[in-house]
Amino acid sequence: MNETPSRPRAEIDLAALRANVRALRARAPRSAFMAVVKADAYGHGMVPCARAAKEAGADWLGVATPGEALALRAAGLEGPLMCWLWTPGGPWRQGIEAELDMSVSAIWALDEVTAAAREAGRAARIQLKADTGLGRSGCQPADWPELVEEALRAEAEGLVLVTGLWSHFACADEPGHPSIALQLDRFREMTAYAEERGVRPEVRHIANSPATLTLPESHFDLVRPGIAMYGVSPSAEIGVPADFGLRPVMTLAAPLALVKDVPAGHGVSYGHQYVTQGRTTLGLVPLGYGDGVPRHASGTGPVLVAGKPRTVAGRIAMDQFVVDLGGDEPPVGSEAVLFGPGDKGEPTAEDWARAAGTIAYEIVTRVGARVERVHL
Ligand code: PLP
Repeated sequence: MNETPSRPRAEIDLAALRANVRALRARAPRSAFMAVVKADAYGHGMVPCARAAKEAGADWLGVATPGEALALRAAGLEGPLMCWLWTPGGPWRQGIEAELDMSVSAIWALDEVTAAAREAGRAARIQLKADTGLGRSGCQPADWPELVEEALRAEAEGLVLVTGLWSHFACADEPGHPSIALQLDRFREMTAYAEERGVRPEVRHIANSPATLTLPESHFDLVRPGIAMYGVSPSAEIGVPADFGLRPVMTLAAPLALVKDVPAGHGVSYGHQYVTQGRTTLGLVPLGYGDGVPRHASGTGPVLVAGKPRTVAGRIAMDQFVVDLGGDEPPVGSEAVLFGPGDKGEPTAEDWARAAGTIAYEIVTRVGARVERVHL
């Protein structure tokens, strides 16, 4: 952070995001690039991040919900945009009119999208999703022939255009996991089947961040990274962001709201799980689990306060937590950095993930709406 913030904020380094997009593109030079900006761009701010990714050469944008996709269109983002999490009665007609690529995993969705296309009087762009082993959304191999035949029938009627065939990995963040090769084999088989039957996809894709970084054979026509674009590693096994020339995009910081002396034996925060060992100073950080700071990191979360590494003392509350400053008396308003790129001694999102027993995806994505995003 360049200056002491006057309130809690998440600084979003869009130059770092652009550089990350370029670094990731260079790893998949023959594939198109879909920037995954769902969940408010993993907490980084969907619209500015989508714009920055496109400026850096992203060909596609990808989101989960139709609401996210329509919000991107409303903000003026044009070009290929895929949206994959549909529910019955979803806004298919709006999706058609907004020229979204809509994922279809099952016959019910194909039925709904073709009905909407009839009403709209134009074809829907759909991408058929194969469950190659994740066991989440996607069409099971046994049901694939029926989905492909029905989609081809709808295509022949001018109701849909099958623009893509795609899938998602379960364990790409664990290099060497046996499911990776199995999923790749199944993906090749399922796409080959669809193409033999007459599907002519513009794109076939399966690679998320870890696969984009470590599995060139999974790149096909398009890669679809999310977390790596934000400069966060998908897992410790994959490596640290710097291994891939990636830089963390988000810095979460707040000014100290209070600094005070307390005597020895003073309980700190709810439950008094931390008790001061001697006379000391406490600093109050105005961020809590209501802002996405994980309560599981009570007593373990790392913070850089006025340039010194500290640890959360006692429980993280909804709006605030305390650090023991060990007798130091930095002025009120001094900066507490929860995480950032790590090159000024501050912790990283990965450090918070370890402290909270979770993944760094969750640390950045859950930063709450109350925290101002400052896009640089
Ligand atoms: N594709 C789909 C379908 C996803 O759900 C996600 C995120 O979970 C991604 C791509 C991007 O994954 P990652 O953030 O691991 O790159």
